[in-house]
Amino acid sequence: MSNLQEKDTQYIAGTYARFPVEIVSGKGSEVWDVNGKRYIDMGSGIGVTAFGIADDQWIDAVTAQLHAVQHMSNLYYTEPCVRLAEMLCNRTGMKKVFFSNSGAEANECAIKVARKYAAEKHGEDCYTIVTLEKSFHGRTLTTLAATGQEVFHKLFTPLTPGFVHAPANDFEALKACVEAQKTAAIMIECVQGEGGVIALDPDFVQKTAAYAKEHDIVLIVDEVQTGNGRTGALYAYMNYGIEPDVVSTAKGLGGGLPLGATMMGEKVQNVLGRSDHGSTFGGNPVATAGACNLISRIDDALLASVREKSDYIRKELTGASGIKSVSGMGLMVGIEVVRPAAEIVKACMEAGVLCLTAKDKVRLLPALNIPTELLREAIEIIKTACKE
Ligand SMILES: *Cc1c(COP(=O)(O)O)cnc(C)c1O
Repeated sequence: MSNLQEKDTQYIAGTYARFPVEIVSGKGSEVWDVNGKRYIDMGSGIGVTAFGIADDQWIDAVTAQLHAVQHMSNLYYTEPCVRLAEMLCNRTGMKKVFFSNSGAEANECAIKVARKYAAEKHGEDCYTIVTLEKSFHGRTLTTLAATGQEVFHKLFTPLTPGFVHAPANDFEALKACVEAQKTAAIMIECVQGEGGVIALDPDFVQKTAAYAKEHDIVLIVDEVQTGNGRTGALYAYMNYGIEPDVVSTAKGLGGGLPLGATMMGEKVQNVLGRSDHGSTFGGNPVATAGACNLISRIDDALLASVREKSDYIRKELTGASGIKSVSGMGLMVGIEVVRPAAEIVKACMEAGVLCLTAKDKVRLLPALNIPTELLREAIEIIKTACKE
């Protein structure tokens, strides 16, 4: 072990199983380690560096703002967060945005909005949030409660009460869960990320959305991973033709700076009032100035290229040796493999490609603008690593 790795083990809480790789620099979809070895980045810091590492335009936007003012607290007006909120509302039809610093925080806000709406409209005993099994909504005690995976709950109980988990893609079962008590909200990821890169059935999502609307239940779509162009639409819900009441996002929105956003649609737009919620760093001018640049570049041409690259990956991997199936949407790809996913990720790393896992799958989340030649090179290496 290197000195850095020993010190990391000594001083950093042991929550991460890191690979023995020290990344020191990068450009676009290539990164270099401390020994000068080059890797193609097929993970983008878990879907964060949407336009790759050290993207020039993003750096310009961020540094210009750094030189102007880096932080002013939410007691004063600053321009970048307003510009970003306007862009997000114009592109989605949502009405208002609350900014925070992470996915978990974006979901916390979504849950608070749903609870307050339901309490005022249907009474204070209407607080339950129904989420899906295998979902992932974050690591805070409330978003852990929302997360439908027991493995993350163990030894951290009691979690925030009022969360129930229903099986995905089974509308009748979901309905039964919702009707078992007063329900404030239904919360879904259109493509479950950590849960195994599983795109929900359109029929299930559409029935759920229609049911929520009919019964005045707040529909929250967690777009922390699926958002900001990842699935070939600006937000994944757009692929399903639904209109959520609340959309939370983070990861790719900040492009590498901490930024979360909770977007509120017509029905809930005025739920949050003075001192109902807040964040010291939320809407930080540097993070939001960078995000304005990224969102302005996620246009129709970029989204079309995301879908094209997705088709290419699917075509190459489907039916290849050692690959059982390919799941996901856009540049959010799950590969069901014959050999253990961890072994394949290790083999890819040795051959110069960084990939992720999700449950027992290999997961790919490359930068939205990964150059075609690099994508081809990476896919060949991944195919070789998957071979039986
Ligand atoms: C990553 C993720 C989160 C948590 O985001 P953090 O920024 O780590 O708090 C929440 N929901 C989904 C769907 C995610 O993929």
